[in-house]
Amino acid sequence: MTTNCIFCKIIAGTAPATIIYRDEQAIAFYDIHPAAPVHMLVIPNKHIDSINDLDPQDENLVGHLFSVAHQIAEQEGIHLSGYRCIINTGPDSGQAVFHMHVHVIGGRSMRTLTGA
Ligand code: AMP
Ligand code: ZN
Repeated sequence: MTTNCIFCKIIAGTAPATIIYRDEQAIAFYDIHPAAPVHMLVIPNKHIDSINDLDPQDENLVGHLFSVAHQIAEQEGIHLSGYRCIINTGPDSGQAVFHMHVHVIGGRSMRTLTGA
């Protein structure tokens, strides 16, 4: 748990979120400012600032985050219509929360890169 990290607080249950998936490695919840009809975040339970801070031993964990992304996309019924998985990293990406997370976004067409 990293003090003052909003996502660590959500994992600990001390900040509110609508949690839609939880296991020993990751949780998923709805984004509070959805960019599309379905906008969920998948985060590791372990605090990692960003992709830049991944260690080689995190490789299985990163794979697991995408497995969870698939599961919640299926839960929401967007796995066949399609969805985007985005991990923002650093200032140019607009990363605002420095606890690594996968955005899972769908429920509308996003055929251009800027259409997200
Ligand atoms: P990023 O720009 O990639 O760091 O995205 C951070 C995302 O976290 C944004 O889409 C925010 O809307 C979302 N967010 C921030 N705080 C919360 C929260 N307390 N509960 C749910 N989503 C949040
Ligand atoms: Zn954190």
